[in-house]
Amino acid sequence: MAADGAAPGASNVCFTMHGIAVSGGVAIGHAHLFLGMTSEVDHYEVASHDVSREQRRYDRAVKEVRDELKELAESVRHSAASELAPFVNVHLMLLEDDAFSEAPREIIREQRCNAEWALRTQLDELTAQFDDIQDEYLREREADVRQVAERILTALAGSKRLLAMRPSRQDADMILVARDLSPADVILFREHPFAAFVTDMGGATSHTAIIARSLAIPAVVALHHSRTLIREDELVIVDGTQGVLIVNPDRAVLAEYRLRQNQARLEKEKLKRLKSAPASTLDGTVVQLYANIELPSDLDAVRASGAAGIGLFRSEFLFMNRRDLPDEDEQYEAYREVVEGMKGRPVTIRTLDIGADKAVDGQEYATENPALGLRAIRYCLAEPQIFNTQLRAILRASRHGKAQILIPMLSSYAELHQAVAAVDRAKEELRAEGVKFDALVPVGGMIEIPAAAIALPMFIRKLDFLSIGTNDLIQYTLAIDRADDTVAHLYDPLHPAVLSLIASVIRTANLHGKPVAVCGEMAGDVDLSRLLLGLGLRHFSMHPASILAVKQRVLGSSLPDIAPMVAKVMKADEPEKLVSLIERLNA
Ligand code: PEP
Ligand code: MG
Repeated sequence: MAADGAAPGASNVCFTMHGIAVSGGVAIGHAHLFLGMTSEVDHYEVASHDVSREQRRYDRAVKEVRDELKELAESVRHSAASELAPFVNVHLMLLEDDAFSEAPREIIREQRCNAEWALRTQLDELTAQFDDIQDEYLREREADVRQVAERILTALAGSKRLLAMRPSRQDADMILVARDLSPADVILFREHPFAAFVTDMGGATSHTAIIARSLAIPAVVALHHSRTLIREDELVIVDGTQGVLIVNPDRAVLAEYRLRQNQARLEKEKLKRLKSAPASTLDGTVVQLYANIELPSDLDAVRASGAAGIGLFRSEFLFMNRRDLPDEDEQYEAYREVVEGMKGRPVTIRTLDIGADKAVDGQEYATENPALGLRAIRYCLAEPQIFNTQLRAILRASRHGKAQILIPMLSSYAELHQAVAAVDRAKEELRAEGVKFDALVPVGGMIEIPAAAIALPMFIRKLDFLSIGTNDLIQYTLAIDRADDTVAHLYDPLHPAVLSLIASVIRTANLHGKPVAVCGEMAGDVDLSRLLLGLGLRHFSMHPASILAVKQRVLGSSLPDIAPMVAKVMKADEPEKLVSLIERLNA
């Protein structure tokens, strides 16, 4: 993070922060801090022999926050924003005060309650005192007190999610400022119309970022200290294209960004004219542009985009933000709604891909390395009943249109064999029960693990189609956790190893006459459209919001002109050369 400007502790001071741009566009609105203390805090009794243990738990949390603040003070001191240091020091001083270091320990002892409740009780007492203060400067310190309490509460919670998405007021111009958001949190944005969000953590292709793009709201992640530096209700500009956050902008800056917002709106309006035009290149090659969706409620956006079908329905989102699993009938209704809604156009339903950064309540397997663990098809094969329920629901929905089944994260032949056997078993059951379904429903596989890309012939014979998941293919090829901002700079779709895997999958699929799509984020990046076309890709699947821009690029592309430049890209191994070749390709 880099922050420039004067200390934000004083009101209405303009400052700027830089993070990773994950979802383009500009939003202007008021900050809503994702405050831990506004959500419910557990209250339980602690046995008398456990009181000192609970006090130690509280002490550990305070120490953790102290270390974190010292680290923050240090990083601010060495950055362009040394003016921020006094603000961080206020938090450190508050933390050392008896009000935080001693009083909650006393409450734990006196009331024999848990540390969270003691802290909450103490915070209520402190904020009640603020109500009587006339001095504006001192009254402003209430926010600092709350922020310190929230930090301690977060430390007490460990990795557990503290917060529910409950803004104090509904406001479509509100900008959500959070330490971190899970994909499940972001999916709730559908019910709470935020204009944008920013987080301190996260990477560009984390599922959180992907959902932001699918909602077409600007988002910036990896800001590191935004939750500490921004205050509730402050005016902020989120530039999701450049990865910039401007707090308390002055009039000139505000006017400039309003102009940019209007220009973007006009661009969007212009693109709408392409909605029903067929996507074909200048030399007449037809290209299929499909949509990625998370929930049936995305159908409106899909229709507005003129998508030729759905290339990826991330079905795991039906399983999130709830305590129970959706049963067969509930899933059937959801799949049927989408299949019927697409009126005979293909709908590719990916089987449950949970694990890694997509957690589902009660289905988590504690593991050191979740991205390499029991994720996606591995999870489904370990939970045959859950898999069978989903397959039956998809098959039942298949008779209402054109459904396809997509198996995520294949890495071994045995997995594919077992997955296909599970589909056959579900079909047999339905047949025996006299339930109708499309017996020829195609079964495809996601190619997103390097092993599957390299040993593709082993998989291809048993599959009807392929879909390249470039998000995971890059993660696993380059050994970079896609949700970890500390390695985000290494996440490189143009790495020669990645490009060579993608090229070889497309080539092999075309040789075998099997349809192949790209459904990772690369498919929706207009700057990569010509490269992928030149590699032989004819099926792209992306957020509905990207489809018209990619179509515009396809319409202006000529395959014979692209071919020699793409050949050069595939031979280039120096990053600068590669970037300049891609620029020329897009000129
Ligand atoms: C991918 O990995 O590229 C993909 C499309 O799947 P997800 O992002 O849901 O892992
Ligand atoms: Mg994936």
